[in-house]
Amino acid sequence: MNLKSILLSALLTSSVTLFATDNAPKYIFYFIGDGMGPGSVMGTDTYLRLAAGRSNPLLWERFPQCSMSTTYSYNSPVTDSAAAGTALSSGHKTRNNMLGMGPDSVAVRNIADDLKEMGYGIGLVTNVAADDATPAAFYAHVPSRDMAYEIDTQAAESKIDFLAGSRIRGIKRNGKYSGIYEKFAENGWDIVRGVKNYNEATSPRVLLINDVDTLNNNSGYAIDKPAEWNLLRDYTATALNHMTKHTPERFFLMIEGGNIDWAAHDDDAATIIREVLDFEETMQLAYDFYLAHPEETLIVVTADHETGGMTVGQKSVGYNCFPKRLEGQTISKANFNDLVSELLKRPNPVSKEEMKQILTDKLGFYTIVPINEACQKRLDETFERTFISRNDYFNDALYHKFPEFVEEVFTIMNEIAGFGFTTTKHSGNPVGVCAIGPGSDLFGSPLDNTEIPLRIMEAAKR
Ligand SMILES: [Zn+2]
Repeated sequence: MNLKSILLSALLTSSVTLFATDNAPKYIFYFIGDGMGPGSVMGTDTYLRLAAGRSNPLLWERFPQCSMSTTYSYNSPVTDSAAAGTALSSGHKTRNNMLGMGPDSVAVRNIADDLKEMGYGIGLVTNVAADDATPAAFYAHVPSRDMAYEIDTQAAESKIDFLAGSRIRGIKRNGKYSGIYEKFAENGWDIVRGVKNYNEATSPRVLLINDVDTLNNNSGYAIDKPAEWNLLRDYTATALNHMTKHTPERFFLMIEGGNIDWAAHDDDAATIIREVLDFEETMQLAYDFYLAHPEETLIVVTADHETGGMTVGQKSVGYNCFPKRLEGQTISKANFNDLVSELLKRPNPVSKEEMKQILTDKLGFYTIVPINEACQKRLDETFERTFISRNDYFNDALYHKFPEFVEEVFTIMNEIAGFGFTTTKHSGNPVGVCAIGPGSDLFGSPLDNTEIPLRIMEAAKR
């Protein structure tokens, strides 16, 4: 940490209120692609160029300032989202799993607190749970990211103006309903179920969640939904509506693409690419806002870490990559896994012919994805082990557990399309940082993740 960063850090952690000057951006957008490492960004670019016929790279890669950031946590070269979120919200490294606290378990201030004191409205948006690590890093201080009820209580008691996610996790406590919605209501929040019901809200504080209770944190992947579906975009449009209505003078909006990480834990290239494209479509809203207010709007885009160790190219294809071969995939690996689980429950086992048809229909095998004899042999052998002898092999990819057949199908898909994965966890690879608008000049050289929030505050205090 250099001297300037130390001074800024001292400023950030002090309780002194500083007011933004005329040079400071009035509107700050902070986009965080969860798990969106260089492989998923370049993989999407490559898909656009070679399969979708689009020549320009992703929106944020065309911003005037682009650099990269290190992501390691206090106790590991491979961070988790809690430690990374804490670094990106507060400028402090902490241990994996800890949220809004230093490694000594002392709470640290974050930029949402500081910007709120400076008169900015605060909005946090994600397409995973609203109390998941990344959004929670902007309001919670807990030793473990799994303390959902405590995190939700801190959200309810925070000064945030708008919070949106697929759901909140702290609904149950000791096996019973926790009373968390009442806690939000007591603190002046309107709880809105589904974007279409936003207009019913009258309070300047809104918690927006799905209109149906989802069992997962995840709201579902774009690849499994109709083409026009983009929850992150719809939540962000609602957030913009809310902020321009209630805090039109100044606001800060953090927007997390949470599903990118989930898909990358599954090593599922097509699903990752679709999530990155939804993230870009969401960012277009902020970019349009920037175009209307170019002197007053700062957009900063980064990722909390890399997930999956994704590469464009892998040993099966040498100097090549064939993203067009992903075009027949119309189902996420997670949903394909659910389909296989259902088939495994059937009293009469699924036949090889039936499975061949499913692979053709859902993944483009035998049509877009050429399956040679060696691949067919691998499919037949793993089919035998998963469906006939029913071995107990599972690949535990954090959010999903995949039987051997599912794992082999997607390993073959990656080999033939030419995308590589080295892990089902995160990696210590650096991530991109791009920015546009007043203050963007602060993001043009390599950074550590702890410096990013400090630079945002530096821009806000200019
Ligand atoms: Zn993750």
